[in-house]
Amino acid sequence: MQRYKLSSGTQVKLSDHDPRDTAEFLGGKTAGKGRLKEMNRELESLQELLYAEGKHKILVVLQGMDTSGKDGAIRHVFEGVNPQGVKVAGFGVPSKEELDHDYLWRIHRRVPKRGEITIFNRSHYEDVLVVKVRGLAPPDRVERRYAQITEFERMLAEEGTTILKFFLYISKEEQKQRLQERLDRPEKNWKFNPGDLVERGFWDDYIAAYETALTRTSTEHAPWYVVPADRKWYRNLVLASVLIETLKGLEMQYPPSETDLSKIVIE
Ligand code: ADP
Repeated sequence: MQRYKLSSGTQVKLSDHDPRDTAEFLGGKTAGKGRLKEMNRELESLQELLYAEGKHKILVVLQGMDTSGKDGAIRHVFEGVNPQGVKVAGFGVPSKEELDHDYLWRIHRRVPKRGEITIFNRSHYEDVLVVKVRGLAPPDRVERRYAQITEFERMLAEEGTTILKFFLYISKEEQKQRLQERLDRPEKNWKFNPGDLVERGFWDDYIAAYETALTRTSTEHAPWYVVPADRKWYRNLVLASVLIETLKGLEMQYPPSETDLSKIVIE
């Protein structure tokens, strides 16, 4: 899955990426879903080990256009994983209290502690995406944020956080279909938000803002992955694979007991 990782310094052009790509899994949808079930079990064991070892902190950042499947990815990729070891932090329109602070204030307080996986459903990247596209802050302020974010993430990494950032890349056509489904299917009506249509009107501006953000903030210590997300099953497989590869790479060990277990007799 390393093909989806952006190495630092890459000039990103999203038109070079295919949202419908499934190149790393040739078995198709049904087999792909089966494979995900196996990966769920693998992730479950790795998360338990992470928690037991209590050494590493894992931060997963999810970004994407509306309907790109951030919620679905969290639900499916982490299915069966002990909920006590995984936290989800969602970042919506900032409150008055949040706006009265710097933009990283609400972010920093939600980062994972040792032994924990925290998933950001949207993140500080909104402060160079929606904020840029909708002109919610002056351009020079937004401009400075790429370097600030890179340094913030460097500090987290140097202090022991493993950071993985995923851009769930859907096509404009796929978004149309997903929005239409929210209109057509009564059980999905609640998800329809007219505001999504307004944001859709800014599609090209969002693509440009994403290209800039991905280009300027993909680093060795906090790499971005551009995940083909038109096919939900494949999106889930890419995420699960990268997480599993990364957790395995940490070479974690169960800690020895602090008690001399050989002396213990259970009556
Ligand atoms: P989602 O669309 O992810 O399911 P919500 O319906 O809560 O979740 O929407 C979150 C909204 O908050 C998005 O439209 C997003 O652009 C907006 N948002 C997030 N962070 C900021 C920010 N820093 N400034 C302005 N808007 C933001």
